[in-house]
Amino acid sequence: MTRTGIGYDSHRMVAGRRLVIGGVEIAHERGLAGHSDADVLAHAITDALLGAAGLGDIGEHFPPGEERWRDADSMELLELIVGIVAGGGLEIVNVDCTVVMEAPQIGPHRAAIRTRLEQTLGLPAGRVNIKATSGEGIGFVGRGEGVAALAVASVRDAAG
Ligand SMILES: [Zn+2]
Repeated sequence: MTRTGIGYDSHRMVAGRRLVIGGVEIAHERGLAGHSDADVLAHAITDALLGAAGLGDIGEHFPPGEERWRDADSMELLELIVGIVAGGGLEIVNVDCTVVMEAPQIGPHRAAIRTRLEQTLGLPAGRVNIKATSGEGIGFVGRGEGVAALAVASVRDAAG
Protein backbone atom coordinates (compact mmCIF):
# COMPACT_ATOMS: atom_id res chain seq x y z
CA MET A 1 0.00 0.00 0.00
CA THR A 2 1.19 3.48 -0.85
CA ARG A 3 0.22 6.44 1.31
CA THR A 4 0.53 10.10 0.44
CA GLY A 5 0.82 13.18 2.63
CA ILE A 6 0.82 16.89 1.90
CA GLY A 7 2.74 19.73 3.49
CA TYR A 8 2.53 23.50 3.30
CA ASP A 9 4.61 26.19 4.96
CA SER A 10 5.36 29.89 4.67
CA HIS A 11 7.81 32.29 6.31
CA ARG A 12 8.29 36.04 6.29
CA MET A 13 11.11 37.50 4.20
CA VAL A 14 13.15 39.95 6.28
CA ALA A 15 16.51 41.70 6.32
CA GLY A 16 19.32 40.23 8.38
CA ARG A 17 18.40 36.57 7.96
CA ARG A 18 19.81 33.80 5.76
CA LEU A 19 17.77 32.43 2.88
CA VAL A 20 17.92 28.64 3.16
CA ILE A 21 15.79 26.58 0.77
CA GLY A 22 15.97 22.79 0.94
CA GLY A 23 19.24 22.91 2.86
CA VAL A 24 20.94 25.18 0.34
CA GLU A 25 21.84 28.74 1.34
CA ILE A 26 21.05 31.20 -1.45
CA ALA A 27 22.79 34.57 -1.56
CA HIS A 28 20.13 37.30 -1.27
CA GLU A 29 19.74 40.60 0.52
CA ARG A 30 16.97 39.18 2.69
CA GLY A 31 16.19 35.84 4.26
CA LEU A 32 13.45 33.97 6.09
CA ALA A 33 12.37 34.73 9.64
CA GLY A 34 11.64 31.91 12.05
CA HIS A 35 12.59 30.15 15.26
CA SER A 36 14.72 27.63 13.35
CA ASP A 37 16.66 28.43 10.19
CA ALA A 38 13.19 28.89 8.61
CA ASP A 39 13.92 26.52 5.72
CA VAL A 40 10.41 26.70 4.30
CA LEU A 41 10.94 23.84 1.85
CA ALA A 42 12.42 21.49 4.43
CA HIS A 43 9.43 22.22 6.68
CA ALA A 44 6.87 21.53 3.93
CA ILE A 45 8.57 18.24 3.06
CA THR A 46 8.79 17.26 6.73
CA ASP A 47 5.05 17.80 7.09
CA ALA A 48 4.34 15.86 3.89
CA LEU A 49 6.35 12.89 5.21
CA LEU A 50 4.66 13.04 8.60
CA GLY A 51 1.30 13.19 6.86
CA ALA A 52 2.06 10.18 4.68
CA ALA A 53 3.18 8.19 7.72
CA GLY A 54 0.22 9.32 9.83
CA LEU A 55 2.50 10.91 12.42
CA GLY A 56 1.00 14.34 12.98
CA ASP A 57 2.82 17.52 12.05
CA ILE A 58 6.17 19.25 12.47
CA GLY A 59 4.96 21.42 15.34
CA GLU A 60 4.19 18.36 17.46
CA HIS A 61 7.65 16.90 16.92
CA PHE A 62 9.59 20.17 17.16
CA PRO A 63 7.54 22.70 19.16
CA PRO A 64 8.45 26.17 17.81
CA GLY A 65 8.89 27.77 21.23
CA GLU A 66 11.44 25.26 22.47
CA GLU A 67 14.90 26.65 23.05
CA ARG A 68 16.68 23.58 21.66
CA TRP A 69 15.17 24.16 18.22
CA ARG A 70 16.29 27.79 18.04
CA ASP A 71 18.21 28.34 14.79
CA ALA A 72 17.98 24.59 14.24
CA ASP A 73 19.20 23.18 10.94
CA SER A 74 15.88 22.12 9.43
CA MET A 75 17.54 19.46 7.29
CA GLU A 76 18.68 17.79 10.52
CA LEU A 77 15.09 17.88 11.75
CA LEU A 78 13.98 16.36 8.44
CA GLU A 79 16.62 13.67 8.84
CA LEU A 80 15.24 12.83 12.29
CA ILE A 81 11.78 12.39 10.80
CA VAL A 82 13.17 10.28 7.96
CA GLY A 83 14.59 8.01 10.66
CA ILE A 84 11.28 7.81 12.49
CA VAL A 85 9.43 6.99 9.25
CA ALA A 86 11.96 4.25 8.43
CA GLY A 87 11.74 2.95 12.01
CA GLY A 88 8.01 2.56 11.46
CA GLY A 89 8.66 0.13 8.63
CA LEU A 90 8.01 2.58 5.82
CA GLU A 91 10.15 3.64 2.89
CA ILE A 92 9.80 6.87 1.00
CA VAL A 93 8.72 6.48 -2.62
CA ASN A 94 9.03 10.05 -3.89
CA VAL A 95 8.68 13.68 -2.96
CA ASP A 96 7.36 16.45 -5.19
CA CYS A 97 7.33 20.08 -4.17
CA THR A 98 6.75 23.64 -5.29
CA VAL A 99 8.55 26.72 -3.99
CA VAL A 100 6.48 29.90 -4.33
CA MET A 101 8.93 32.80 -4.26
CA GLU A 102 9.10 36.12 -6.09
CA ALA A 103 12.87 36.57 -5.86
CA PRO A 104 15.53 35.34 -6.17
CA GLN A 105 14.95 32.74 -8.87
CA ILE A 106 15.27 29.15 -7.70
CA GLY A 107 16.40 27.86 -11.10
CA PRO A 108 20.17 28.23 -10.64
CA HIS A 109 19.96 26.36 -7.31
CA ARG A 110 17.47 23.67 -8.25
CA ALA A 111 20.01 20.90 -8.92
CA ALA A 112 21.86 21.53 -5.65
CA ILE A 113 18.62 21.55 -3.65
CA ARG A 114 17.43 18.38 -5.31
CA THR A 115 20.69 16.56 -4.59
CA ARG A 116 20.71 17.73 -0.98
CA LEU A 117 17.13 16.56 -0.47
CA GLU A 118 17.69 13.20 -2.13
CA GLN A 119 20.69 12.60 0.16
CA THR A 120 18.78 13.57 3.29
CA LEU A 121 15.76 11.50 2.31
CA GLY A 122 17.95 8.54 1.37
CA LEU A 123 16.51 8.43 -2.13
CA PRO A 124 18.18 7.63 -5.44
CA ALA A 125 18.40 10.39 -8.03
CA GLY A 126 15.12 11.19 -9.70
CA ARG A 127 12.82 10.62 -6.71
CA VAL A 128 12.71 14.27 -5.64
CA ASN A 129 11.18 16.84 -7.93
CA ILE A 130 11.34 20.57 -7.34
CA LYS A 131 9.12 23.07 -9.07
CA ALA A 132 9.15 26.82 -8.69
CA THR A 133 6.67 29.57 -9.34
CA SER A 134 6.45 33.26 -8.53
CA GLY A 135 3.62 35.20 -6.95
CA GLU A 136 2.92 37.12 -10.17
CA GLY A 137 3.30 40.35 -8.19
CA ILE A 138 0.23 39.72 -6.04
CA GLY A 139 -0.34 38.50 -2.52
CA PHE A 140 2.31 38.14 0.21
CA VAL A 141 4.63 36.25 -2.11
CA GLY A 142 4.23 38.69 -4.99
CA ARG A 143 4.95 41.65 -2.72
CA GLY A 144 8.10 39.95 -1.50
CA GLU A 145 6.80 39.72 2.05
CA GLY A 146 7.26 35.99 2.31
CA VAL A 147 7.97 32.66 0.69
CA ALA A 148 5.74 29.58 0.64
CA ALA A 149 6.38 25.94 -0.18
CA LEU A 150 4.13 22.98 -0.87
CA ALA A 151 5.09 19.32 -0.91
CA VAL A 152 3.64 15.88 -1.33
CA ALA A 153 5.37 12.71 -0.23
CA SER A 154 4.50 9.07 -0.79
CA VAL A 155 5.58 6.18 1.41
CA ARG A 156 5.03 2.42 1.25
CA ASP A 157 5.67 -0.58 3.45
CA ALA A 158 9.37 -1.26 3.35
CA ALA A 159 8.84 -5.00 2.82
CA GLY A 160 6.70 -4.44 -0.27
ZN1 LIG B 1 8.42 26.64 8.71
